Amino acid sequence: MKGFLTGVLSVLCAVTSLEAQAVAITAARVFDGAGRWIPNGAVVVEGKRIVSVGALPAGFRGVRYDLGDATLMPGLMDVHAHIAWYFNKQDRLHQSNDGDTPTESMLAIAGNAWTTLQAGVTTIQSPGSPEDAEVRDAIRRGWIPGPRVLTSLGSINENGGTPVQIRERVRGFKQRGADVIKLFASKSIRDGGAPTMSFEQVQAACDEAHTLGLRVLVHAHAAEAMNIASRAKCDQIEHGMLSDQASLDLAAANGVFLSPQCSLVIDNYLENRKKFEGIGNYNEEGFASMRNSESARIGTIRNAVRTKGLRVVFGTDAVAGAHGRNAEELVCRVKRGGQDISAALASAQSVAAASMRLADSLGTLRAGMLADLIAVPGDVRQDITALQRVRFVMKDGTVYRHEPGARR
Ligand SMILES: [Zn+2]
Repeated sequence: MKGFLTGVLSVLCAVTSLEAQAVAITAARVFDGAGRWIPNGAVVVEGKRIVSVGALPAGFRGVRYDLGDATLMPGLMDVHAHIAWYFNKQDRLHQSNDGDTPTESMLAIAGNAWTTLQAGVTTIQSPGSPEDAEVRDAIRRGWIPGPRVLTSLGSINENGGTPVQIRERVRGFKQRGADVIKLFASKSIRDGGAPTMSFEQVQAACDEAHTLGLRVLVHAHAAEAMNIASRAKCDQIEHGMLSDQASLDLAAANGVFLSPQCSLVIDNYLENRKKFEGIGNYNEEGFASMRNSESARIGTIRNAVRTKGLRVVFGTDAVAGAHGRNAEELVCRVKRGGQDISAALASAQSVAAASMRLADSLGTLRAGMLADLIAVPGDVRQDITALQRVRFVMKDGTVYRHEPGARR
């Protein structure tokens, strides 16, 4: 028995020391995810965690990844991505009973997870599909590579019943393992975005969720629907594409995060129109209102990033066809929404982490944090589109992408 234990211990020690070998990633510039830029910086990682950020420690003897003329920063965190949405064997949006087997569906979703991770998105929040729980857990166990996943597993809408019944539904989601609650409190942008849930319904959901320690994301397009979410002290407004300044100010005053969409979700729908058309409200009228939403969308971004105290987070609403293109949203934010580049990056790093209550372990580069790191070629401050050419990805200290010779 003693011999066996000693054997096990020595194997454990070997594994530990192997894991504990320090890894240093160096680049011409490091962004810390919160606002600080470090020239010629190094991030040193041991196991899953960052042990130092700054200059390369003198006499460093571990493994080196020298990324050269690149920008090194925290992995992107997309607070709104539908990882389970994919195009089926007929190259149409997958629906239940479309002939795809459950195994095919799961493999397609695993593909989305890989594509998302390779694009530098190391954490996503999905609002939400029932399959998300298995995907989240499979990634967590190391069965498949992918971003860390948080999910609402589904959503609650105006048909959720009385406030008492809505509270029950919230508890049901918690019991089934939801990380967050999603409310569908307004019509879609394809149908005008007006409120659908009453203040009493929204308030019941947010209050019950808070009692259980859960956050609530509220789908709301029109200003009136956004105001209900802010007054009910919910945690985050999704979309807000038909906002006005008063609704942005009210969200800021109540500490409600805003996750608006600049381009990707709509561009993707319009580019892949044939694959969605004929399903639900993906019809002639719906596509027209999406096309016509451009000035409202860009207007919301422009106003939101200038609204004092409003915490704007990175949420792409990526659906089938958009996975792996997440960074396009940040390019639009900067180029068309006029957002400062450091603020745009932070919205996908430290601010996104704060919105998901993960700020003590993710979103900022400093000692003790989980080692989720990405790098893009050149100086992203000179060219935001570099975000679309991610060439280094590390999650939890494991390297998933490294292209030392990649050109700009
Ligand atoms: Zn969505």
